[in-house]
Amino acid sequence: MSRSFDVIVIGAGPAGYVAAIRAAQHGKSVACIDEWKNKDGRNAFGGTCLNAGCIPSKALLESSELYHRAEHEFEKHGIRTGGLEMDVAAMQKRRAGIVRQLTGGIAGLFKAAKVEGLVGHGKLLKGKKVEFTSVEGEREIVSADHVILASGSEPIELPVAKFDGERIIDSWDTLELDAVPETLGVVGAGVVGLELGSVWSRLGSKVTVLEALEDFLYMADRDVAKLAAAEFRKQGIDIKLGATVGKATAGKGGVAVEYEDGNGAQSLEVDKLVVAVGRRPVTNDLFAEDAGIQLDERGFIAVDDECRTRVKGVYAIGDCVRGPMLAHKGSEEGVMVADLIAGETAEMNYAVIPSVLYTNPEIAWAGKTEEEVKAGGRPYKTGQFPFMASGRAKAMENTSGFVKIVSSKDDDEILGVHIVGPMAGELISEAVLALEFNASTEDVQRTIHAHPSLAEAVHEAALAVDNRALNFPNR
Ligand code: FAD
Ligand code: AMP
Repeated sequence: MSRSFDVIVIGAGPAGYVAAIRAAQHGKSVACIDEWKNKDGRNAFGGTCLNAGCIPSKALLESSELYHRAEHEFEKHGIRTGGLEMDVAAMQKRRAGIVRQLTGGIAGLFKAAKVEGLVGHGKLLKGKKVEFTSVEGEREIVSADHVILASGSEPIELPVAKFDGERIIDSWDTLELDAVPETLGVVGAGVVGLELGSVWSRLGSKVTVLEALEDFLYMADRDVAKLAAAEFRKQGIDIKLGATVGKATAGKGGVAVEYEDGNGAQSLEVDKLVVAVGRRPVTNDLFAEDAGIQLDERGFIAVDDECRTRVKGVYAIGDCVRGPMLAHKGSEEGVMVADLIAGETAEMNYAVIPSVLYTNPEIAWAGKTEEEVKAGGRPYKTGQFPFMASGRAKAMENTSGFVKIVSSKDDDEILGVHIVGPMAGELISEAVLALEFNASTEDVQRTIHAHPSLAEAVHEAALAVDNRALNFPNR
C-alpha cells in the first residue's frame, strides 16, 4: 500500500522546511522532499539559503570584513599584527563547516518534529499525489491531503554570458572560489552582486560591477543609495551604471567583456566574471501537466494572497511565487500556509518585509522609501540621524551612514525606516516591529533605548522627525 501523509512539502529551503515543521507542530503527519546536492556530492536540506546563499555569503562577508579591518583599522586601536596573510582555504573550510552544521541541524529538527525527510525528487501529480524518486532511483507514489510546493529559485543565465563554472560563474561558484582572483567582474549591482563583490574586493580583487540601470540600488531610498555608492567606490569597487553587457568571451587567461554605457562601446578584461542578474523560479519537472498548476506571466507559480494555487489543497511558497526573493519571506509564508492547513486564521503582511544588504556599510530598510511616499501624495516629514554622532558607532570605528525615518504629517504614523551603517540588519528589527504595530514616531521617541547603543540612532532619527534630536543639531 502506498504511503500517505496529511502534508507533503516539496523543497526543504527556508520556505519548505519551516512549513514542514510548523505543520508537524499542528499534529499533522508530514513528509518533506528535497533533492539538493552540494558540490562535494552530499545531499543536504536547507536549499539555496543554507547551502549556497544567505549563510555561506554571510560567513565569507564576516571573514573578509575581519581581514579588511585587520589591514586598515587595527592600527588605530593600537593592535600590531605584523605581517597579515589571508588563508583562503581556511576561510572556505570555516564556511563549509558552518553550512554543514546548519544543514545537519535541519535533519535534526525534522527528526525531533517527526517530519519524514525524503531525499530525492518530488513531482506533483493529479489528485494531490506526489511521485517521489529517491536518489537511488526508486519511484514511489505518495498521497497527501495537502501539498506545499517550495521549489525555490536558480540563477538567471545571460545568453551573452553563459555559465561555464570556471570563468563565467554564478553566485554559488563565487562563494566557493579557492583563490582570490586578481580581477573580478560582476554583472548586476543587486544584493547578491554587491555582497559577493564586497567579499572578494576586501580580500584584494580589483572588482568592477556592471549594472544595466542608471539608478544605483533602484529599490532603496535615494539618500541611502547615494551614500552607499560613494562608500563602495571609496573601497575601490568600480561601479559602472547604465552598463549593458553585450558579449562575454571566456578564454584561458580570463574573460573578455564587451559592454555598452552612456559613452558607447566599452571593453573589460577580468579573471572571472560573476553573473548576478537575478534569479528565476524553479518549476522544471515539479508538476505534471494535468496537475492543474498554473504559472503567472513571469513564470512563477500562480497563487493568491494566502499562497493557494488553483488546485484545492495545493499551496506554493517562497522564491517560486511572487514577492521578494528572501528567506524570511518564504519562511513566513510557510508558517501561514501550515496554519491555514490546520484551520487557523493566518495572513502575511507583505507591506512590511525587511530588506538587508550585508555590505559595509550595511543597508536595511522596511516600509516605504521617501520617493514612494512622495509619489503617493500623502504629506510627510522625515528625520535623519548620522552614526557620526553616535558614541557606540565611534567606539566601533564605524561611523559612516545614518538612520532615516519617513512619517506621515497627518497622524504621525511611521511609513518607512532606512538605515545605512553599522548593524543596519539588526537595527531594522525595531523598525519592522514599529511598522507592524502601526507605531507613531512619538511611540519610538518615548521608547527608552540603552546607552551607548547603535539603536539610539533609531531613537534620535525619530526625534529628528520633529526637529527634536538631542545629540545632533536640528534643521
Ligand atoms: P530554496 O532555498 O531555493 O530551496 C528550494 C529547495 O527545493 C532546494 O533545496 C531545491 O533543491 C529543492 N527542490 C526544488 N525542486 C524540487 C523537486 N522537484 N524535488 C525535490 N526538491 C526540489 N535571502 C535572505 O533573506 N537573506 C540573505 O542574506 C540572502 N542572501 C543570499 C545570498 C545569495 C548568494 C543568494 C543566491 C541568495 C540569498 N538570499 C538571501 C535569497 C534566499 O537564499 C532565498 O530567498 C531563499 O533560499 C528562498 O527559499 P526557498 O525555500 O523558497 O527556496
Ligand atoms: P537582484 O535581482 O537584486 O539580484 O539584482 C540583479 C541586478 O542585475 C539588477 O540591479 C538588474 O538591474 C541588473 N541586471 C539585470 N540584467 C542585467 C544585464 N544584462 N547587465 C547588467 N545588469 C543587469
